[in-house]
Amino acid sequence: MTDRALGLEVSGVAVDLDRTPIVRDVSCAVAQGGWLALIGPNGAGKSTLLRAVAGLLPHRGDVRIDGSPVGHLRARERARLIGYVAQNPLLPPDMTVQEYVLLGRTPHLGYLAGPGERDREAVRRTLTALDLGDYADRRLAQLSGGERQRAALARALAQEPRLLLLDEPTSALDLGHQQHVLDLVDDLRRTQDLTVVTTLHDLTTAAQYADRLVLLHQGRVESAGAPAEVVTQDAIARVYAARVSVTTDPDGRPVVTPLRGARN
Ligand code: ADP
Ligand code: MG
Repeated sequence: MTDRALGLEVSGVAVDLDRTPIVRDVSCAVAQGGWLALIGPNGAGKSTLLRAVAGLLPHRGDVRIDGSPVGHLRARERARLIGYVAQNPLLPPDMTVQEYVLLGRTPHLGYLAGPGERDREAVRRTLTALDLGDYADRRLAQLSGGERQRAALARALAQEPRLLLLDEPTSALDLGHQQHVLDLVDDLRRTQDLTVVTTLHDLTTAAQYADRLVLLHQGRVESAGAPAEVVTQDAIARVYAARVSVTTDPDGRPVVTPLRGARN
């Protein structure tokens, strides 16, 4: 890790759901302005870990943002620091896109104060950045899956958090919008020192955007490090029970190609 302050430090985090251990003694960290991707097969505990870090699940262990433990923060302070988008966010169907994204500003409003010009400007900027400018007055029920996913992301970005937690943020997006959204997040972390943690099930994409990967398996950290250290043919074959070939792109990042089984 570099000399930069840590944007997120997770130490010995463990989560039980219905008395079953789901996340077990996970420790990982990422620098301020860094991008950490959680990878691992279905059921590895990625979403559960992300929810624990977001403060949405009781857990053991310690979570620090920009060096400060979040356990002691009041809900409102935590909401200012952490933006979280669930894997399948539930959106209020009758709300317009604009109203919904404006909710992201709630933790910044004074008590009893309504949104001001700065809040509305943050919403406009975010809608434009996410290619939703024409949908501002559309009700959420009347959006496609990909548009809904971008609206959920817009709410988290309008919040202007220090830590952005995104659970499979591109699962409903076409290729162009996937790249657009990931490039936008990448730009924000570079220009605003926003720390980013995503789960991404596409390993090649995870390796292209994240500077650190954590491979989770059965709730534990199987390996962690730079993409080329974590995404190896052996590790992917073992943990995912998958046939893959791992090659390297011109930037030295791993590219994972699935291989079909023997033909009869
Ligand atoms: P991932 O996001 O890596 O696919 P999750 O964190 O969603 O995995 O889930 C991890 C495991 O926890 C899964 O095996 C899932 O079935 C299990 N799980 C999720 N919710 C509960 C629950 N309420 N009680 C028991 N097990 C659960
Ligand atoms: Mg998940």
